[in-house]
Amino acid sequence: MGGGNAIRGTRVGAGPMGESERGESAPRQRVGYWCANGHESRPSFAMEAEVPDSWDCPRCGLPGGRNQEKPPSPPRNEPYKTHLAYVKERRSDADGEAILAEALARLRAQREDI
Ligand SMILES: [Zn+2]
Repeated sequence: MGGGNAIRGTRVGAGPMGESERGESAPRQRVGYWCANGHESRPSFAMEAEVPDSWDCPRCGLPGGRNQEKPPSPPRNEPYKTHLAYVKERRSDADGEAILAEALARLRAQREDI
């Protein structure tokens, strides 16, 4: 019969209110960033922290800027480009000619074998 002890163990309102000491004590500021795709991200910084001028968009990876009207232009190497896009880009110019030349050379080599 230990029921009486269990009730006595949970005293409501007796303990110190420790919540105000955790989390809410450090004031934080929310800063808005906009990327070239129009995504808005609002990371929060500590008030005493130095707020960066740019912030990578969590949705598309492009750098975001503080000015919504003028987001920073995306860098040339887009981090989220697909593999297919890389392949197409690689095949486009000089490499395409190199592949063609290689194929022709192989054809000629085959003919010489005959
Ligand atoms: Zn974005």
